[in-house]
Amino acid sequence: MIQDIAPKIFHNEYIQTGPETGDTVFAFSGREVLAAVDAEGEVSCPAAADFAGEKLQFLFRIDHHAYFLYCSPEGISDEKITLPGYAYCDIRVFRKLQPKDLCFAAVTAWHLFVWYRDNRFCGRCGHRTEAAKEERKLVCPACGNEIYPKIAPAVIVGVTDGDRIMMTRYAGRRYRGNALIAGFCEIGETVEETVRREVMEEVGLHVKNLSYHKSQPWGYGINLLMGFFCELDGESQVHLDRQELAEARWVSRDEIGEEPEDLSLTAEMIMYFKEKMGKGAPKKMEEESGEDLAETLPARVRRLWTGHVPKVPSGRKGTSAVVIPLVKVDGEYRVLYEKRAASLEHQPSEICFPGGGVEEGEIPRTAAIRETVEELLVSDDQIEILAELDPAVGPSGAPIWPFVAELHGYENTFSSDEVEKVFTVPLSWFCQNPPDRYMSQLATVPGEDFPFELIPGGKNYPWRRKNHEIVFYRYPEAVIWGVTAKITDEFLKKLFPEVEF
Ligand SMILES: [Zn+2]
Repeated sequence: MIQDIAPKIFHNEYIQTGPETGDTVFAFSGREVLAAVDAEGEVSCPAAADFAGEKLQFLFRIDHHAYFLYCSPEGISDEKITLPGYAYCDIRVFRKLQPKDLCFAAVTAWHLFVWYRDNRFCGRCGHRTEAAKEERKLVCPACGNEIYPKIAPAVIVGVTDGDRIMMTRYAGRRYRGNALIAGFCEIGETVEETVRREVMEEVGLHVKNLSYHKSQPWGYGINLLMGFFCELDGESQVHLDRQELAEARWVSRDEIGEEPEDLSLTAEMIMYFKEKMGKGAPKKMEEESGEDLAETLPARVRRLWTGHVPKVPSGRKGTSAVVIPLVKVDGEYRVLYEKRAASLEHQPSEICFPGGGVEEGEIPRTAAIRETVEELLVSDDQIEILAELDPAVGPSGAPIWPFVAELHGYENTFSSDEVEKVFTVPLSWFCQNPPDRYMSQLATVPGEDFPFELIPGGKNYPWRRKNHEIVFYRYPEAVIWGVTAKITDEFLKKLFPEVEF
């Protein structure tokens, strides 16, 4: 989880200390942070030395490294500062911060920033507040009001029914991954009462046998999250609160795949239920003999490509990147394709994957996600990259980097500027309909003024011919061929080695 930074230690003591040049400084504005992202996607934050002459607020230390908050001339506010080489970006960039303790520091710093910013003035008398010296609190010099950091307690609830757990997806939020039932504690309520009330409000179920699991500080929501498991009591029919949730359903232990990241308590609890609850020892895929029929498709893709290092192509010019999007429809995974708009200059009306050129300073993965977001009008949270395949060679000879991704919560949206339509092909269709393969030759065809007299054999010179295979899938909705079919073919051969394509 986000706070698990051992062997490093988080020191929350409030001390009076000035910054040393190498200490880290966070400058926030709203939900943005001042950071630099390099070509490899590595994120870094500025150091105290970059803020000569500016006021900085001490936050906390991790081991001996101290963290500070930038104070604008207005105090701690949304006002931005300009630093060469740095730009303000969405705080979700924290999830990419390495080492992991930097991610925890950044999210905790943002939590403190929100508190400092929102309490510059006394809520009782309106006077400007001041930071106390002896502990972390703000004090109003006019009326004596003391303001301590605000933490919102909330619960995460795993409702279980034997081998099943209640999984949800939030409505109207950017996060589209798996969630559990969650909600804030109300004033006058015990945490146990919060658990019962939230389950009833969100899915209309009664629960019993509550057991406390673990807690987690979660600065993104200024929360302290408390995780509980409890059992269904009685009727299992879900009555969904559509304002809160887009979906709630019972998921059996074996249907649960790998949760994408190890930061959140929610993901920790889902994996705990899958691997540890009621099972004794964690289940290990490798220990099982033969095919694991319960393995989900995304889990299979991840497993097959774990440790796979793509072969780096020689030519780099004109590199592009694509996503092979997997969407789950009625319990079955399908591959999504686009038909390019007829108005496009390049390859109009062709069938392809979402993707495009890798821009200056970008890595292929970032380009693949960016292009998919633009073409399918989804958020990057919906795109969960599962595997990176070997680059294919495009029509121009330039490399194309394919990334397999699960597309969560996709609702058939696309940008009509670039895309005429999208369609999906069930993986089972590919297994039952192997493609047609045609050999083609790349030949050298000299021009009319070619000096044949200068080469042995003249016009009969034995030019080397390069064979290459062109793959066609005759899917009823559209024929898939060329490099898109080739990428599909490479993916399927490794995914289903038991099938003869
Ligand atoms: Zn006051």
